[in-house]
Amino acid sequence: MKRTVGLWRQTACAISLIGLAGSALAWGAEGHKTVAAIAAEQLKGTATEARVKGLLHASETLLDASVWADCAKGFIYCHKQPTPEMQDFAAGNPDHHGYHYTDVPIQALEYTAGSVGTTDHDVVQTIKQAVFGLQGDTSDARNPHHFTPRQSLMILAHMVGDIHQPLHVGAAYLDLDGRPVMPTEDDMKQTGTEGGNFLFIGGKSRVLHGYWDSDAVKTLMRRKQAKTPQALAKALLADDDTPVVLEGDLDSIVIAWANESLAAARTAFEGVVISEHRTNFKDSQGDLAAGWAVTLPQDYTKTSSDVASGRLLSAGKRLAAILRLALE
Ligand SMILES: [Zn+2]
Repeated sequence: MKRTVGLWRQTACAISLIGLAGSALAWGAEGHKTVAAIAAEQLKGTATEARVKGLLHASETLLDASVWADCAKGFIYCHKQPTPEMQDFAAGNPDHHGYHYTDVPIQALEYTAGSVGTTDHDVVQTIKQAVFGLQGDTSDARNPHHFTPRQSLMILAHMVGDIHQPLHVGAAYLDLDGRPVMPTEDDMKQTGTEGGNFLFIGGKSRVLHGYWDSDAVKTLMRRKQAKTPQALAKALLADDDTPVVLEGDLDSIVIAWANESLAAARTAFEGVVISEHRTNFKDSQGDLAAGWAVTLPQDYTKTSSDVASGRLLSAGKRLAAILRLALE
């Protein structure tokens, strides 16, 4: 960050920093469906494809599965009423909004379980638990929320996308002078920006998080002349369709994905200018939210869509690979 000065703390303000936590969406529907379409392409003709089909309803595809976990969060997340199955999942998983991200400070070199910004149900831990759930493991140690195989498929189809969205792993925390700070458990709520949900582009309602969810993907679709997620998946695979091979234990595989996103999040903040004061902005719902205005560098449209291109392709290939790892 070039300039991050002059944050004032709203100690007595009624506007809660926590109130917006649920607005973290990760890749919008296009991004998630692109990831799923890449995976579906790479699973064609495999035993895993058949196993996945067996867990889906007749009318569902892996693309539908890729947005299930967002739709389970409620109407505003996918403009559809959650199904009874989603409502059951939400009722049985009161922390499910937190399954979609982790908030590692962007200054950290790597994801470390138990460090500030991580939780025992963050996106890293949830992916691991869903791999065991997909295998039918119901043990408290490996699958503490007792995800069923079908829920596990829905979770993986979505969260493998989420963990590749840079701002769903790397988070900016700002001190009283507006500079990036390594947060402590005590001040993380005051210093946190919720994955960029409190960073308002040009002081308007669009937040940096949403920019990475959707705008970067839409730009990429335009650049690739892709009108649908399937078309974008084909275009990305045309550049490099080599399947990935997952090596090492599950823990290190998933942490490596998070660490890449952490590095990408640092790129996402390069050249971003943050306002000198925290103030109140109207968010996309029209509610007032405390945050910072940010100005993006001129070439941000290109650099962000370049990063999104690599992250989406990796996510799709890795989704295919982890489903094979779990199911074959
Ligand atoms: Zn999500």
